[in-house]
Amino acid sequence: MCGIVGVVAPGLEAARLAALGLFALQHRGQESAGVAVSDGEAVMVYKDLGMVAQVLDERRLPSLRGQLAIAHCRYSTTGSTRWENSQPTFRLGPRRAVAIGHNGNLVNTRELLARLPGGQRRLTGSSDTELLTALLAEVPGDDLVDALCRLLPEVSGAYALVVMDERRVIGVRDPHGFRPLVLGRLPAGAFDADAPTGPVEDPDEPGLWAGYSAVDERAPHASGGWVLASETAALDVLGAEYVRDVEPGELVVLGEQGGPRSVRFAPGEEQLCVFELIYFARPDSYMLGRNLYEARRRMGEALAEEAPADADIVMPVPDTGAPAAAGYAERSGIPYREGMVKNRYAGRTFIQPSQQLRQRGVNVKLSPLREQIRGKRLVVVDDSIVRGTTTKQIVALLRRAGAREVHLRVSAPPVFHPCFYGIDTQIETELIASRLDLEGIRRHVGADSLAYLSIGGVLGALQLPRERFCFACFDGRYPVPVPYDVASHKFVLEDGVPGGPLAGVR
Ligand code: SF4
Repeated sequence: MCGIVGVVAPGLEAARLAALGLFALQHRGQESAGVAVSDGEAVMVYKDLGMVAQVLDERRLPSLRGQLAIAHCRYSTTGSTRWENSQPTFRLGPRRAVAIGHNGNLVNTRELLARLPGGQRRLTGSSDTELLTALLAEVPGDDLVDALCRLLPEVSGAYALVVMDERRVIGVRDPHGFRPLVLGRLPAGAFDADAPTGPVEDPDEPGLWAGYSAVDERAPHASGGWVLASETAALDVLGAEYVRDVEPGELVVLGEQGGPRSVRFAPGEEQLCVFELIYFARPDSYMLGRNLYEARRRMGEALAEEAPADADIVMPVPDTGAPAAAGYAERSGIPYREGMVKNRYAGRTFIQPSQQLRQRGVNVKLSPLREQIRGKRLVVVDDSIVRGTTTKQIVALLRRAGAREVHLRVSAPPVFHPCFYGIDTQIETELIASRLDLEGIRRHVGADSLAYLSIGGVLGALQLPRERFCFACFDGRYPVPVPYDVASHKFVLEDGVPGGPLAGVR
């Protein structure tokens, strides 16, 4: 995952806008946050480990001046969680100064490392993004856009990027468009005191997926600036209008006269990560014209048709299972209830209970609503089962709260294969669906029945063709060849890890 934002905003504090947009993308990464800003003369970077609001607070933002900014929040897929791996990465190279925010994961990291003169000694961290930044800073030629067009065809894997030098912000999507990136426009006067707040919906476009119409980026009226973001939810918080998606294989150059400039560096064939639509992205975001709450609600409807259950109530695993649970309840006619409360502050870094407390069933994230559960036959809707550990704990928690039956329904197909394109799913042997059949998983998690939504069910809910998506963690058809030694991939640039940095390259 990771969230990225780019802002060009003449006359405004771009760092503040970028930080605000990033705050709307906090769900995409909680390990570190940072911003790079330029006043047209020099690039300055501030970043640290922690959440967006902790890192980019009121003490720091006023000193980050300039009308160009990029911002990033991190969820690690290559390189461990340490300051050196936080982003934006920055490099003052012999050819240029460049900062990068990256969402995705490269799959030819070792080959790229072999191209860096001096190899790993030139890197302070161990992320694929730092390596990319170091390579980009050295590509011959004066122009950053030309340098990207020369370097990117050599780069393999998933990358949605915001790239910045002193004068421009550039949005990039890899030729498959695994990760999302949208372009938005700040209306002129958007931050005047009497400006309307929030996006304006188009009442003339009713229909299945209405409610998020695009503005024409070439429209002649004045613009207050431009925004790039991983999700439309970040445009909404800034009051920016959605213009379009950055296309796979495209660079969108901001900061030049005459508005955004499109440069194609490779032919594009979109295969957006379907997990973004099933689970990762915010439900108020739009992707491929689909509102994600509505898409997930329809997945729940499809699940009710594919896998009905005889039960008293339908409840979600909070929070992300809620839209599909609502759809399941509507289609099945079984009443919807909340049955668990999630502690919203139990993030990845929150203190975990000791093994002894875990064995006693202490769950810091979820608490049961016993009155809703006791004596009932439950349909419990979740959006995925990866290792099965959490699911098993949830079923046990519901049984302790008095559930009579627990019928587990998952609004995604089984995850059989690891992801190499920016989602930190486990190695294959840790994925429960790759080890056990359906009945084995049901017994392992302790449910009375278990069913997953089919790939056809997902596509039916989205009403889009399969070719538009990557489904590799479900069907093993990887659009880009995946790396050699799976087990060490995350730490491919890390010292002391078996299969880590290539001895010959260092
Ligand atoms: Fe998304 Fe799965 Fe493809 Fe990874 S392998 S990009 S998680 S669909």
